[in-house]
Amino acid sequence: MTFDLKHKREKWVIGNWKMNVDLASCEQLITQIASKTNLFSNKIKMGLAIPYPYLSLAKHLLNDLDNRVYIGAQDISAYSKGAYTGEVSSAMVAEMGAQFVLIGHSERRQYHRETDEIILNKLNQALEINLVPVLCIGENLQERQLASTEKVVSQQLQILSALPENKLKKVIIAYEPVWAIGSGLAASPEQAQAVHKFIRGILNSYNQQLSNIAILYGGSVKAENASLLFSQEDIDGGLIGAASLNAASFLGICQAAAVSCC
Ligand code: PEP
Repeated sequence: MTFDLKHKREKWVIGNWKMNVDLASCEQLITQIASKTNLFSNKIKMGLAIPYPYLSLAKHLLNDLDNRVYIGAQDISAYSKGAYTGEVSSAMVAEMGAQFVLIGHSERRQYHRETDEIILNKLNQALEINLVPVLCIGENLQERQLASTEKVVSQQLQILSALPENKLKKVIIAYEPVWAIGSGLAASPEQAQAVHKFIRGILNSYNQQLSNIAILYGGSVKAENASLLFSQEDIDGGLIGAASLNAASFLGICQAAAVSCC
């Protein structure tokens, strides 16, 4: 399954399993999710960002199940090859079945001190081999309280101006306010929509052709709050952490996305 060219905006639901699965739960979750994706796959796109060791298992399971779920990695190296012990390159994850990759997740920025320069290198590594990058951006609580959200996200987006237009079109953006991640406190649909509209405006200012870029919301999305979030004009689906670890919750969110797009 390859990524089509974007002639229109598409709804996405992507699960981010972080470091929360083992071999058995990974297999069980994929099987449970795969058994139901035919209900939504003609309306939305679904993806799972899987820990490196289980990418190949995911690829084989999803191939066997003839499934329509995109497989992603949670990170890649900023380098293509060489003496970087412990690093995993974009080519390696692609070879193991990844079609997209999360880049610049707030946990990487915070715990691994990823700078914009590192994140730009990772974007280039992904785009070089046609791996779709999901660039994660968002303000922390203090920045929100200081009314600096727009300043922060526009700074984080600035690296995109270094990419040529034909590559830029392939990027997916995930707006994830850090205060909403894992806190149970999602942004309200109005708060999220305001930032998404702002982000779309920035992308349009780079180039009008970028109006089809998907901008996903992430941060404590659950089946119960997904419908209202996804029905906002500039919200093209979600990046889901905790709720993607339960098949019924993840599928409930997919259902909300499928309903909101038609
Ligand atoms: C995330 O970490 O990308 C995320 C959105 O987590 P959660 O849904 O658990 O807030």
